[in-house]
Amino acid sequence: MSTASTTPSAFDRQGSESDKLRIDAAMHSFVSEFGITTALHMESCVRCGQCAQACHFYVTTGEAKYTPIYKLEPFRRAYLRQTSPFAPLIRALGLIKKPGIADLEQWQELLYDSCTMCGRCTLACPMGIDIAELVKEARHGMFKAGLVPERLALMDRTARQWGSTATPGEDLPEILAEASRLHGVEIPCDLTAADILVTAAPAELGEHTKALADAARILNRIGAKWTMAQSGFDAANVGFNNGDLELQERLTRALIDTAVRIGAKTVLLPECGHAYGAARWEAAKWYGQALPVRIIHMTEFLDELIASKRISVKKIGGTATFHDPCQIVRRGGLEAAARRVLAALGFELIELQDHGLASYCCGGGGGVVSNQRATPLRHKVFEMKRKQIEATGATHFVTSCGQCRITFEMGAKHADWDQRTESMLELVADNLAD
Ligand code: SF4
Ligand code: SF4
Repeated sequence: MSTASTTPSAFDRQGSESDKLRIDAAMHSFVSEFGITTALHMESCVRCGQCAQACHFYVTTGEAKYTPIYKLEPFRRAYLRQTSPFAPLIRALGLIKKPGIADLEQWQELLYDSCTMCGRCTLACPMGIDIAELVKEARHGMFKAGLVPERLALMDRTARQWGSTATPGEDLPEILAEASRLHGVEIPCDLTAADILVTAAPAELGEHTKALADAARILNRIGAKWTMAQSGFDAANVGFNNGDLELQERLTRALIDTAVRIGAKTVLLPECGHAYGAARWEAAKWYGQALPVRIIHMTEFLDELIASKRISVKKIGGTATFHDPCQIVRRGGLEAAARRVLAALGFELIELQDHGLASYCCGGGGGVVSNQRATPLRHKVFEMKRKQIEATGATHFVTSCGQCRITFEMGAKHADWDQRTESMLELVADNLAD
């Protein structure tokens, strides 16, 4: 049962455990995450402050508490007290206070509302401290302590029940049939054998079924044997964002096991950033070996189809600028692939002031877009991005992550900004050459 308040607050609680049990659960998780790499990271910070200027939340607010390394403070304290070389001395002399419930509650905002796990600070840190990864590890402890934003906890409970944050698996055939009718394209469901298992982001099964239809149009054009499947269809792994490792594993396994069962060699991920982070880079750890299937993001897929001439696209022409989704470009390495697709579409690309690996986050990654409490912070980041986009003077504004797109659309609505955020997939599907 949730004890979340109905008005926005800095923290929420799930369950009815005592403060002591919550602290113990969080500390146990923090300590169990401390491998050699984490310990090295915790020991390496030279307090240079460079990570602050890298973080969109610090840059747009100027608030010291949003300095990336500060977000790891209770994690650092747990490390120093429990596993550092001087831990017994530190405890005996009481040099570092054990984090209390107030620390963890305050920390909830820093870990969830004001961190998108974008990795820009990681790139900036001269000591190579992977702050984004450490934030992700710290979220594991927060989830165990029942201290996550209620909106994310609600999505977590839904995904545990349905296998998706928005759609029960049993509804998938009907949703796909409706999307198929609406967009006039065949969308196979639950084929017993296929070469490609196609997955979706939750919004694509609701308001944005055009993205699903766009993918279907391209797959049908190349004559692929593909399917979607009730047993594994939602690629947006909410466990990855929330710190719920058990759910993350379950959702990842659903995709891989389904692909293996139908003989698919490829799992195609939608235009979704954290789907790529969870499935492409973390899935193998649940198997303890190389994955039996190839996991590929829509951006790579489009790039490969165009390069191999399996599809060709009409040139749209004109100018475009591109928002690099953090999980796909900085954390995922697909910077060049996106630009090749834009070039194939005939765009003259005018880069944002900060682009590619150095691009600032949209402000909604890591679950922040779903966390209504973080809306004012998100709007501040939107204003920074908006200025950069407008400064290019480009006619088209394109991205390759549905979550980034939704974040920009929400920001545009709030700011009454009339620039459309276009999907790369949609541009390709709408401009397939005969
Ligand atoms: S990962 Fe991104 S949002 Fe989080 S602290 Fe670093 S720069 Fe800021
Ligand atoms: S940039 Fe790295 S070394 Fe400098 S304060 Fe941040 S985490 Fe510490």
